[in-house]
Amino acid sequence: MTPEKDLREQLATCTRILAMQGLIGLFGHVSVYQPETKTIFVTPGSGSDKPHFQADDMIPIHLDGKPLDGETLPPVEWPIHTALHGARTDALAVAHLHTPYATLFSIARREFHPVTLQGTIFGEGVPLYKEAHLVTTPQRGDNLLKTIGDHRAVLMRGHGIVVAGKSLAEVLFASMILEDDTKKTMQALTLGPIDHFSAEECRGFNAEIDFERRSRRAWEFFMRLESTWDRQGGTGKIELFP
Ligand SMILES: [Zn+2]
Repeated sequence: MTPEKDLREQLATCTRILAMQGLIGLFGHVSVYQPETKTIFVTPGSGSDKPHFQADDMIPIHLDGKPLDGETLPPVEWPIHTALHGARTDALAVAHLHTPYATLFSIARREFHPVTLQGTIFGEGVPLYKEAHLVTTPQRGDNLLKTIGDHRAVLMRGHGIVVAGKSLAEVLFASMILEDDTKKTMQALTLGPIDHFSAEECRGFNAEIDFERRSRRAWEFFMRLESTWDRQGGTGKIELFP
């Protein structure tokens, strides 16, 4: 079992990296699950100081959303996290973000298809949750769960994204890749019609490349950068694939 201390540290680190990269700000939250104790650790909600998060700031909640300490409330959209952690054994980490480029795909009448090799981790598609509300009740959480199915991510209409993974490293890297791929799609569209990888090509590429290992490398790389970041908005960000 991964100790609570490590989960808290990793969750704070993951969120600080997302903040450094401009992928989380006023809103957005990330969680990690300890299945052995059925405990979710989630970051504080809107307005919290993501660039300075520390292990102690993380909020432990039960699968019904109730805080373990009985008083520190999780973000209002906690049912996103409880629904995914409770139902999917491969969703040990979950991020709900409002990343700029991926969110445009939740608005455009255009299906997402990966255009980069790294983006092929989303080769099975990214479904769209169409409801015009925040996911603030368990029933809405269940509806979101039905929409995402066994996909790695879901777009939320006019709102943002949810990304799930086996670890915070996977969720961090996958979130960055989704943002990079949607950004490149839009940039390439200015040049004319664009090409994308088929589901079969995506499966082929991912059969050769180990996503878990790549995620760990990305984690170590960004952790090093974050450790010397001055924590000022917009100063630490680097392109995922410069
Ligand atoms: Zn949201």
